[in-house]
Amino acid sequence: MTKQNIDILFKKILKEYQIYAPVLANKELFVKKALNIKEIDYSGRIPLNSWKQLFLPDCETLFTYTGNFKKEKANYPKVCAGNMTILDLRALGLYDLVFSEDPYYQQRRQNILVVGFSFGAPNEENFADWKVFSMKLEENILEHVPFDIFLEKDKKGNFKIYSGSIKGQELLEKYKIKEYKNIKFAGLIPEEGPDKRMLELGKSIKKSANHPLWDELDKICFACGKCSLVCPTCFCFDTEDVPDKDSVKRQRLWGNCFYPEFTAIAGGKNYTDTVKKKIKFWYDHKFSRIPAEFKVPGCVSCNRCTLVCPVGIDIIKNLNRLNSKVTKKSAKK
Ligand code: SF4
Ligand code: SF4
Repeated sequence: MTKQNIDILFKKILKEYQIYAPVLANKELFVKKALNIKEIDYSGRIPLNSWKQLFLPDCETLFTYTGNFKKEKANYPKVCAGNMTILDLRALGLYDLVFSEDPYYQQRRQNILVVGFSFGAPNEENFADWKVFSMKLEENILEHVPFDIFLEKDKKGNFKIYSGSIKGQELLEKYKIKEYKNIKFAGLIPEEGPDKRMLELGKSIKKSANHPLWDELDKICFACGKCSLVCPTCFCFDTEDVPDKDSVKRQRLWGNCFYPEFTAIAGGKNYTDTVKKKIKFWYDHKFSRIPAEFKVPGCVSCNRCTLVCPVGIDIIKNLNRLNSKVTKKSAKK
């Protein structure tokens, strides 16, 4: 398939869906609404912001109380998440697990067409420096990430197309694309079991309460929460009741474990009342609690948190210090 064929595919998609894709703006890539298919980026680089706004809006009304409970009328536009990298598809796989029984998430998700994209491993040139978990594009990798359609670009600029769901397959057939391969989703966990380095790292974080790193971070981290805002796997939320004249709205908003109210409870107690506790709570969740509960990493190694941190806190360096054995091994792979 040529790039021209892919442009035709996206032109057809654009007639049915709003397309969000990595778009270049001021020399930086952002996930944005693409008004024209020419704006869609094919570098394979990771956009600075994540896709979570599409799947989990920063604020949504769950129901309104006016004497009776009234569920908010569903208004989920047809959206295409175009050219998501494998790392972001892994994060999406985590949302699918966490929100598997959430009707709001599920209804929105059904209206989203997920188009994955790869052009080699992300940021291949400095890959070994920052990866936490292996991210080679192994043959079986597509079986373990959710997508409807996947586009694989080779070094000559030619494309292979895969369908990963009935929705994807039906769309390709409707658009009269015959050259594609079906991939059957086999769950997020590979056949060989959960990532061993992830499990080792989880153990190290659990035992790290007295590690000097936490005191060092306590002194430099602003608790601004930018890292959590851009992180594709940060899915925590808060609920807020917003009163109006004759009604009350229950809203769900993005939570952020760096913000003061995050672990505040009635009576004034706050379980993460120091920066040190907040940042450790964040690492614990990603590297210990999420893997324990879902058997998948709570971090997909996208490096966004490091790029946006105003004081240069580098998650990979920190993980290296907490568990040099794990990250040295992964860098060699
Ligand atoms: S972005 Fe950096 S300074 Fe801000 S909360 Fe995260 S680690 Fe701390
Ligand atoms: S590298 Fe940072 S931003 Fe990316 S998934 Fe891991 S914690 Fe989140």
